[in-house]
Amino acid sequence: MHRLFRRQIRKSLAQNVPPILQEANFVFSKGEYGRAAELFEQLARTAEGRGGPRAPLFYLQAGRARLLAGQAALGIPSLQRGLELLAQRGQFQRLNQAGKRTVRELVEQGLNAEASAIEAWLGSVLPAGIPIEMSSVERGVLPTHCPACGAPLRPSDVEWLDERTAECGYCGSPVRENP
Ligand SMILES: [Zn+2]
Repeated sequence: MHRLFRRQIRKSLAQNVPPILQEANFVFSKGEYGRAAELFEQLARTAEGRGGPRAPLFYLQAGRARLLAGQAALGIPSLQRGLELLAQRGQFQRLNQAGKRTVRELVEQGLNAEASAIEAWLGSVLPAGIPIEMSSVERGVLPTHCPACGAPLRPSDVEWLDERTAECGYCGSPVRENP
């Protein structure tokens, strides 16, 4: 199917958001990171099992929640898995963004050795001269959270469908920019 046509369809489709995803985002936003991690780990395994496109994002959020819960040993494997899946799928732009963010977050937690290991791995898998995100393109300002599933909407976690509409990476719902 033509890419633009597919995007038109995606913009008009209301997504069925699984309650577990809404709960995961909700408890994460409340700071219940251990519980959020369990839910995102479950979401990630299910998504990976069916080759779902959102598995990497779920793994990364699971790992992030473990770090924030002070459970780095449990979080590192999820962070690595999320990044590995992006690499396997050839999503290098996303890998670059998510990888840098992961390294930054590990350093913030004082996990310098783990950060260095991931940084070195990134350097080995990212192709030279990956296309730079066109940051000069004017994009709208999104709500801070997805209205459908409650996920935080980071620039690295959305795909823009047009200048005013992005797709939530967590639930696939179209999100309009703020008026
Ligand atoms: Zn969403």
